[in-house]
Amino acid sequence: MAKAALFAPPPARLADGRRDLVGLTREELAAEVAGIGEAPFRAKQIWHWIYHQGETDFARMTTMAKPMRDKLAENFVVGRPETVVAQTSTDETRKFLFRFRDGQEAETVYIPDPEEDRGAVCLSSQVGCTLSCTFCHTGTQRLMRNLGAAEIVGQFMAARDSYGEWPSPKGETPRLLSTIVLMGMGEPLYNYDNVARAMRIVMDGEGIALSRRRITLSTSGVVPMMDRAGTELGVNLAVSLHAVRDELRDELVPLNRKYPIAELIAACRRYPAASNARRITFEYVMLKGVNDSEADARLLVELIAGLPAKVNLIPFNPWPGSAYETSTPTAIRRFAAIVMDAGYAAPVRTPRGQDILAACGQLKTETVLARHAQKTSG
Ligand code: SAH
Ligand code: SF4
Repeated sequence: MAKAALFAPPPARLADGRRDLVGLTREELAAEVAGIGEAPFRAKQIWHWIYHQGETDFARMTTMAKPMRDKLAENFVVGRPETVVAQTSTDETRKFLFRFRDGQEAETVYIPDPEEDRGAVCLSSQVGCTLSCTFCHTGTQRLMRNLGAAEIVGQFMAARDSYGEWPSPKGETPRLLSTIVLMGMGEPLYNYDNVARAMRIVMDGEGIALSRRRITLSTSGVVPMMDRAGTELGVNLAVSLHAVRDELRDELVPLNRKYPIAELIAACRRYPAASNARRITFEYVMLKGVNDSEADARLLVELIAGLPAKVNLIPFNPWPGSAYETSTPTAIRRFAAIVMDAGYAAPVRTPRGQDILAACGQLKTETVLARHAQKTSG
């Protein structure tokens, strides 16, 4: 079987024959509506109900007559992942574990801004990951499958349900769930089609209407897909750099053997959505005695010279069985000072939601990163 089929999400049609409308493009939705003999303008109405109003029950889509609503309910559903866990930390961070139709599960985290009424939603793009970054807990879990567009948008919509943030706030009206960061489980650029579809849906002005400036995609460095994402989606980019020498990066981020540092940085320089207003974020996990020397910090600033960039320093978040230790506060401070002296912001991320995430090695990290992305894109 082709790899793509092996890791494909479950079909959009349920066992009872009804089709999930979430995750379809506008054109596909129109085709479904035409398929039951209804006029194209109905698709526009339904889209508005699904993505603007957040309605999941056709019976309450009151701009349509009852027979029409019944017919929709016979043929379609507006799906949501099942919420297995929704835990709120003392610092208000909320962690979700969502279950999809085939029983696969993925984690989503909402990280509110401590000062303002807004926050970032950290979405997963795959269940597991094919890349085996040595410091990452997800990297130890083999790829189960890609998440479908419906499941990626579904994580965001279910998180919105949890806060009751429907209908979608318009224009500059403040939003509690104001930013999306693709920093959960998986490599979003290895599931590009589904991620792109999902992001187009959330960016659609007649639905959730989230600006591309409020979306950040994090990649371990899938160079050819970075060009595509930049041109087609124009979202903010975060790059998991973690090492500035190929020899070390080959070990920490094995994808580096395919796309070495020079190629990665070249792709960042070409990234169309990057500007002084929308800097590229370099994520750098601080591993004691591995990548945290002053020499590495100096190499880092040479590497990114001239790029509109910031460097996000993430103290390593240990998980059971991990081979690394977190850098000392002094090492982190020294590293940050060198990066800042070169004119780049180099925030050190403090973990959020530790009480509820203590058992989930990776989630803590996602939380930390997402907080950062939310701050810088707001
Ligand atoms: N696959 C993508 C996005 C998901 S990982 C990527 O690698 O960019 C999101 C971020 O968490 C990455 O920067 C990743 O390197 C970092 N990360 C993973 N495990 C970590 C850990 N144990 N401690 C600190 N950061 C970690
Ligand atoms: Fe996959 Fe990202 Fe973890 Fe690497 S850091 S294993 S790419 S999720």
